[in-house]
Amino acid sequence: GMTRTPLIAGNWKMNLDHLQAVALVQKLHWSLKDASHEFDDVDVTVFPPFTDLRSVQTLVDADKIPFGLGAQDLSIHDSGAYTGEVSGEFLAKLGCGSVIVGHSERREYHAETDEVVAAKTRAAVKHGLVPVICVGETSEDLEKHGASAVPVAQLETILDGLASDSEIVVAYEPVWAIGSGQAATPEQAQEVCQKLRDVIRVSLGDEAADATRVLYGGSVKSGNIASFMREPDIDGALVGGGSLKVDEFSAIVRFQK
Ligand code: PEP
Repeated sequence: GMTRTPLIAGNWKMNLDHLQAVALVQKLHWSLKDASHEFDDVDVTVFPPFTDLRSVQTLVDADKIPFGLGAQDLSIHDSGAYTGEVSGEFLAKLGCGSVIVGHSERREYHAETDEVVAAKTRAAVKHGLVPVICVGETSEDLEKHGASAVPVAQLETILDGLASDSEIVVAYEPVWAIGSGQAATPEQAQEVCQKLRDVIRVSLGDEAADATRVLYGGSVKSGNIASFMREPDIDGALVGGGSLKVDEFSAIVRFQK
């Protein structure tokens, strides 16, 4: 996007314990420093498992590591008798600035509906966290309805009634492209991301539509990141597998358009 700072987001999923997490973040920082990477022109956020957040926060807090810290999920509740769940309030207190909501793995393995994702989006905003809202079609959806119908409908439901000044990030993640090595083409991703930006415009207004970063996710690698970043409505990437390897993630962050 023209005036939007690119965002490269690393979703670690259920990988790396807290010791491995500290090692990876430090190595990543050294790798980017060696390449004299300027952090003014790209935001980097990592999304470790809950158990790693405190350890990574100590590095981020030391202010030596200019990465954002995010969580992979949150509860729709603030506190109470919800065994095993983690509140957005706790995440904010731990230094998280953002949280992934609606990832396809949460939808598939934890039966999260768009209504649940909408509630999680509201919970995030309530606690000052930027929700990284994931939407995307399965291969079955793609065959039946084309690429954009399902993600557009998902985002419409999730944004319905949300305050227009809520800071959000939207990630278009075709389910068939996640972890498959088969990324969408930049043209197809652009087409859907443009439609998602239209949804933001209708739901939250012009200002939000122009300011909101829309990411592409699904088998993003150092070899294809630049082709996505050239598209006008793609403002960054949500990276799974490629965020676990120092050299690969560092190269993705240092993409050249
Ligand atoms: C993801 O899970 O958000 C993702 C994009 O994974 P990968 O990069 O491994 O396809």
